[in-house]
Amino acid sequence: MAEDTEQRYDPTSIEVKWQTRWAADPALYAAEPASSGKPKYYVLEMLPYPSGALHMGHVRNYSIGDALARYMWMRGYNVLHPMGWDAFGLPAENAALKNHTPPREWTLNNIAGMKRQFERLGMGFDWATEVTTCLPDYYRWNQWFFLRMYERGLAYRKKSKVNWCPECATVLANEQVIDGRCWRHEDTLVEQRDLTQWFFRITAYAQELLDGLDKLDGWPEKVRTMQRNWIGRSEGTEVDFFLAGKTDQGSERQRIRVFTTRVDTIFGATSVQLAPEHPLVASLTAEDAALKAQVDKLIEEQKQAREAGDIGAIDKHGVPTGHFAINPYNGALVPIWVANYVLGEYGTGAIMSVPGHDERDYEFATKYRISIQRVIAPATPGTEEPALPFTTEDGVLVNSGEYDGLSCTQAKKLLQEAAVRGTFGEAKVIFRLKDWGVSRQRYWGTPIPMIHCERDGLVPVPDDQLPVLLPDQIEITQQGGSPLGRVPSFVNVTCPKCGGAAKRETDTMDTFVDSSWYFYRYIDAKNANAPFDPTRADYWFPIDQYIGGVEHAILHLIYSRFWTKVMRDLGLIKNDEPAQRLFTQGMVIKDGAKMSKSKGNVVSPDDMVGRYGADATRMYALFAAPPDRDLDWQEDGVAGVSRFLGRVWRLANKYVPVARAAKGEVVVAPSGVSLKLLRKLHQTIAKISLDFEGRWHFNTCVAAIMELVNEMQAADAQLAAGEVPPAVLRELLRSLVLLLAPFAPFLAADLWSELGEEGAVLRATWPVSNAELAKEDEIEIPVQINGKLASIVRVPAGASSKEIEAAALEDEKVKARIAGKNVAKIIVVPGKLVNLVIPPSDKGLSPGAPSIK
Ligand SMILES: [Zn+2]
Ligand SMILES: [Zn+2]
Repeated sequence: MAEDTEQRYDPTSIEVKWQTRWAADPALYAAEPASSGKPKYYVLEMLPYPSGALHMGHVRNYSIGDALARYMWMRGYNVLHPMGWDAFGLPAENAALKNHTPPREWTLNNIAGMKRQFERLGMGFDWATEVTTCLPDYYRWNQWFFLRMYERGLAYRKKSKVNWCPECATVLANEQVIDGRCWRHEDTLVEQRDLTQWFFRITAYAQELLDGLDKLDGWPEKVRTMQRNWIGRSEGTEVDFFLAGKTDQGSERQRIRVFTTRVDTIFGATSVQLAPEHPLVASLTAEDAALKAQVDKLIEEQKQAREAGDIGAIDKHGVPTGHFAINPYNGALVPIWVANYVLGEYGTGAIMSVPGHDERDYEFATKYRISIQRVIAPATPGTEEPALPFTTEDGVLVNSGEYDGLSCTQAKKLLQEAAVRGTFGEAKVIFRLKDWGVSRQRYWGTPIPMIHCERDGLVPVPDDQLPVLLPDQIEITQQGGSPLGRVPSFVNVTCPKCGGAAKRETDTMDTFVDSSWYFYRYIDAKNANAPFDPTRADYWFPIDQYIGGVEHAILHLIYSRFWTKVMRDLGLIKNDEPAQRLFTQGMVIKDGAKMSKSKGNVVSPDDMVGRYGADATRMYALFAAPPDRDLDWQEDGVAGVSRFLGRVWRLANKYVPVARAAKGEVVVAPSGVSLKLLRKLHQTIAKISLDFEGRWHFNTCVAAIMELVNEMQAADAQLAAGEVPPAVLRELLRSLVLLLAPFAPFLAADLWSELGEEGAVLRATWPVSNAELAKEDEIEIPVQINGKLASIVRVPAGASSKEIEAAALEDEKVKARIAGKNVAKIIVVPGKLVNLVIPPSDKGLSPGAPSIK
């Protein structure tokens, strides 16, 4: 009832007014040049794919980044807060198939719509640095980087087994296959195909990518762990077994190279196992049709297991070839098997099988009755021999000839040295990380700038012919290979080398290429002569804070680290890593599930903004959960935040005339209710400032602002009666607006101007907490020893028992009295007294000490 008679908070009219003003003032959110002299701060949120509409996950991600950017502006930093569009990709082609809209048109329309949404939400982006990855002024630099990598052997072409998503009708990188399924099609099993494809040699940086993780202490541990596991470094030895049998006179015996991390167990090797596609297998099976049929079956089983996504869980099968290998250390003959669980692409595609000391080998040997030998015993003499397999490395060698008695660690070293001396092996480090397959048989991506000439082979497109433009008029189908291959005007080209007729490469680049370096382009988005100016990169990099979803831990976040290292080696930048700090926000869920169209639980940001305003929607996204946790969307909650902002608006409006008139007045010696309110204010400033420095508990920040407003409302009678001086009222309102500015920028801007302040609230100075004012009232607490007064301590009103006890034990008088004595018990009556109990046996040690009796 009361509300009807009062003015109503109308977020739409406030927000649209400010949105219009901000749109007309591009300098407001613009980064300044290095010459500004201010410390720089680069805050970056992962750029969205222009699907057509922002979702709540976006709103949350960008509300976190925008709050941080606004805070840093108010702290006086030169802030770069850019935005762009990850605009290549398959959905544009699917839309083209469905609606006959060209991908370019569809994408650019979506971008325009989403940009309007961003503006309506009041996101403070510097649009002058906007990057759209599907436009030639950006993707020409993808091509330029490709050529630089090609020159350095970092981009190369090879035939290999590749992952093929039938739904995407294209090849996928290993990182884009999740549990055997396509990263974009959760229900689609990925197939294996043999194709000639372009790769980036990310493995050349494997060790550096791994080592760099140790220095990224501003990154979440879970992301670093995921990357470490993905890179998967193993240290071991490569050893050559020799193929037994007759050799032509003078010719070398054929070698079978195995990789092992446990060369110390090599005297226990009782078979050698080859991957079905190991090159030797073909010759071993050449004259044995039955064996070949069995091997073909293993190949098929392996293919199926790969496609099912869990090769580790394959039902282990193998076949003996009837051939033998010679152990180079002791000349022992061991049978050669072909096994479906040995992978051609890991290590050398061949392993030695040591069933006595490896679980998997033990399982296989037991199944096929291959002999099992013990070569490692417990390190402690006299210990009972444990059952096999005995897999510990904390043991000593037995049955290993001259190596008997050595520890596993010593033996590894000596056996490795012996292999090098005997030229039958070497130390080896291998990685699970594979080179990044970047060819895609799709239209909507960056054309690979290479030409196939019959005379000259592969010929790079010369730099002065970049960009290789994507043709506009194209028929999109998802069959029959690369769509560009069906555009003669694109394919047919003159060879830059011989001037003869040649053909362009028709594959396009993986869209993860686009997102690997987009954040460098932001610093110099209009540069037509280079990807960016290195001196600008020097100033802005590394990124101070990167914010995005944890689902990118392997894909984007490994690729972009790789790209940064390549750019550093090209001399473009000096930083080794793209981002100093990384924050991964939680998901937005509703009714227990991630919001998705298929689950029908999507909440539209436009709808929320229309109903409750952008400020309430953004503030709720920060208030409802700590940013790193999942947020369970509750519309009641948005309504609640909107009501809170309404209370702020009414409170401010009621006292704005008084506060405005007090401009320039100084607060002197506050007391009573003034002191109480200022204390709360300065405690709130301290809390929020601390949170922005790293804890990021924005949910409790918003809660603290709500408490402050509650206290001001509770004092309404005194405020209305003029018991609070106008200067105090002004400080309260002014600071409240500043505290709100990162979270509810529209309302803050409006109240700021109502208060008669000059300029944008965004560029006002963040308030500093006055520690003296923030200090709680103190009370005096008597400290007794055995019931007699020993001292009096001062503690904040409302101090906990623990705090009071600590204050008592820190007191100098008390310390002197209990020195060298046994305090048996401490009784704290909060707000009243502390009593220390010292047992009677200590009586008399300290003269004058009261007796307990
Ligand atoms: Zn797919
Ligand atoms: Zn040529």
